[in-house]
Amino acid sequence: MIGKQKIWMAILAAGMSLGTAGMVMAQNGPGLPVSPAPVATINNASSTTALGQEALGWLVELIKINTTNPPGNEEAAAKYIAGILQKEGISSEILPLASGRSALVARLKHAATADPSRALLLVAHMDVVGVDKSKWTVDPFGATMKDGYLYGRGAVDDKGMLAANLAAFVALKRAGSRLNRDVIFLATCDEEAFGDPSIKGLIAKNWDKFAAGFAINEGGVVIAKDGKVQYTAVQASEKVTYNVDVVARGTSGHASIPLKDNAVLHLATALEKIGNYSAPVHLTAVTRRYFEGVASLQDDELGKWVRSLDTPDRGEHAARVISDANPAWSAMLRDTISPTMLSAGVRANVIPAEARATLNIRLLPGDTIGVLLAELNKIVNDPQVKFEIQTNAGLAAPTSSLENDFYTAIMKAAAQEFAGAPVLPYQSTWGTDSAQLRLHNVQAYGLVPFPLTEDDLKRMHGNDERIPVAAFGKGVALMVRIVNEFAVSR
Ligand SMILES: [Zn+2]
Repeated sequence: MIGKQKIWMAILAAGMSLGTAGMVMAQNGPGLPVSPAPVATINNASSTTALGQEALGWLVELIKINTTNPPGNEEAAAKYIAGILQKEGISSEILPLASGRSALVARLKHAATADPSRALLLVAHMDVVGVDKSKWTVDPFGATMKDGYLYGRGAVDDKGMLAANLAAFVALKRAGSRLNRDVIFLATCDEEAFGDPSIKGLIAKNWDKFAAGFAINEGGVVIAKDGKVQYTAVQASEKVTYNVDVVARGTSGHASIPLKDNAVLHLATALEKIGNYSAPVHLTAVTRRYFEGVASLQDDELGKWVRSLDTPDRGEHAARVISDANPAWSAMLRDTISPTMLSAGVRANVIPAEARATLNIRLLPGDTIGVLLAELNKIVNDPQVKFEIQTNAGLAAPTSSLENDFYTAIMKAAAQEFAGAPVLPYQSTWGTDSAQLRLHNVQAYGLVPFPLTEDDLKRMHGNDERIPVAAFGKGVALMVRIVNEFAVSR
């Protein structure tokens, strides 16, 4: 997942720091180490535990195959997976996308004639982000086991899910399960850079090989604290990214004679006005349900305001209270603008003719950039300042349904696996490959199926990335449950 660790932390804070009257979970005070392997053992059949152990071995090998992107080199991982599938008697196909970069697809058939609209796609990416080796205490590609954790780049993002998907897929074949739909396993490339070898290129070249009506991908999370699952957040939609430059232009001149139309000052004034702007609150079907569910996890006072969010009389004040309580919640409720880059000037004694800032904007699904920029133009109200939309916008995709059988199956499986902890739909503030799938009429949902703590999650894309071995087993068990619930005839 791209650039998500800070946001995870804020979301975790939302779920966790407030449990006085809600869930009683604060045995570990802030700053105290979380005991290793806190997550309960798998409570279903011991065959799933054995499968978890086996899949852990696959994860170890996948971590050891360095797929740092760039250059990616995912083909080596694809070949390793092909070998596992071959031993199980499952044929797979390597799909070349660029030199050394190939995806892999395999299918378990329900009937001789495929019905893509019913098929279930299990998708995970094989590439990982780079490492700063000097900041790791273990070899990032050594797959070190220590204190109940498996360390390594990709342990969580996304080789853990890759191995769990593979386990659920292999389990179907071993059990000789009677499928009610095709189940497709897909390992993708270049998710972290989203270039030509990414799912975008894969869909363009090979859509017919993995076309499906339903998919499960990364993008959500199972939040754990003190050995218990707090809730499972299933991503059903995502915000849409735009990068917009704010450009102020003025008269260039010698700095010894200040000018009123100085571009730097006009840009600074514009940015201050933009910074003070808060876009209107807009609840979507997903966020409405998310907040309904998350209310009961808060203390009485905050829970009350979360519940008031969708009321005509107190909604506005409630939105202010909960936005102040948690920046991730604020971002879930509205379009957001973060200035991220600034440039102006070439030397200290020259007034530049132009000053430029980049805004990273995240729109709610259904909102349009034109409407937001018209509002910003009005607020800035300066003929010297213009907005320029960069061409690298994200994709506006439809939201996946919260009413279909697959979403219901995910909810049921997660609740069973995690002792009845709430399962909530989730609208992520980041983008995932699922947007591409949703644009192809796939009901795609995001999950990282492992119960992870704040500390585990913040290592994603960071240093000493790791997964608790017990959590990995639980994630494998959850994927097995989901696939069985949805794709196996009883
Ligand atoms: Zn990822």
